[in-house]
Amino acid sequence: MKNTSKKKNKEHKNKKKKKSNNNNNNNNNMKHEKIYKLLRFEELPEYMKENEFILDHYRAEWPIKQAVGSIFSWHNETVNVWTHLLGFFLFLALTLVHLRDVPQVANLLDHFSWYIPSNAVENSSYNQGKLFYVTSSLVQQNPMHTTTTTATTTKTQRWPFFIFLTGSMFCLLSSSACHLFSCHSRRLNLFLIRFDYAGIAVMIVTSFFPPIYYIFQCDTHWQLLYLSSISLLGLLTVANLFSPHLSTPKFRSYRASLFAAMAFSGIIPAIHAAVVNWNEPKRNITLAYELAMALFYVVGTLFYVSRVPERWKPGLFDVVGQSHQIFHVFVIAGALAHYAAALVFLEYRDAVGCFHDQR
Ligand SMILES: [Zn+2]
Repeated sequence: MKNTSKKKNKEHKNKKKKKSNNNNNNNNNMKHEKIYKLLRFEELPEYMKENEFILDHYRAEWPIKQAVGSIFSWHNETVNVWTHLLGFFLFLALTLVHLRDVPQVANLLDHFSWYIPSNAVENSSYNQGKLFYVTSSLVQQNPMHTTTTTATTTKTQRWPFFIFLTGSMFCLLSSSACHLFSCHSRRLNLFLIRFDYAGIAVMIVTSFFPPIYYIFQCDTHWQLLYLSSISLLGLLTVANLFSPHLSTPKFRSYRASLFAAMAFSGIIPAIHAAVVNWNEPKRNITLAYELAMALFYVVGTLFYVSRVPERWKPGLFDVVGQSHQIFHVFVIAGALAHYAAALVFLEYRDAVGCFHDQR
């Protein structure tokens, strides 16, 4: 009798325990659902209310792990993350392709592979320990310069070109990270937004390096003046950005104009370069590329500032088609146009060198 009542008691306790476990699980599940479900604009914490025309599909206060996982699910930042992540991989691929032209890298690859083309190994023999120097083989191929340059070897530095590629990768990756993780917390959100803008500043500054370096290669005073001015302007912009006050949504137009000013400061060296190189056969090609770049950036910035098309139909472009995604695509298009121009500048210098080199 005693035993049976003990057993009953135990069973009752077990049932109670099970019930409380179930309740806990349910609570946890509810908690999880509450935390990880997508929110509407009006449910957001104040610091995330950045674009009132995007009405839904927000992530807010998500832990890092869930934010990482959300890269493969649909919310209103998915396309923003992927546009610049794919852009990053595109520029990484371009960088790797061009690194194969660098003798040191060709040399290094030679240690690991049997399949290095023989001309890369031959090129590497010219290397006397000077990083990123390459001897041009284009000189003989360019009929316009055969008579003056056949006897000389023209060394063209590769680093300005790689600085631009690295700056672009940094910008695209920091932007992608910003869009993925800014839903985590107010602190991280503020930091990442500034980091994102710093990435854009780095991309603008590093974009100046190939054209200015190669155009004014034979006139180092101008090279130094223009490159140090834009670097200084970039530093000031970044310093400005890291002021908490100026990172708020209220200053969106101010930030956009700061970047536009930085980008348009390129007009002075561009006019200078056009005057100096007026008779160069490649002038129109580089001008066309650079104008395309400027146009892409301007149109992209207009989308960014005006928040078109979502302002016309709030809620319709929450997941796909919002202004920021269009802005991202224009940024990549602009960077690609500039890459094409940088390549022409580099090949031109490889072929022509400097007149004082040729004496
Ligand atoms: Zn962005």
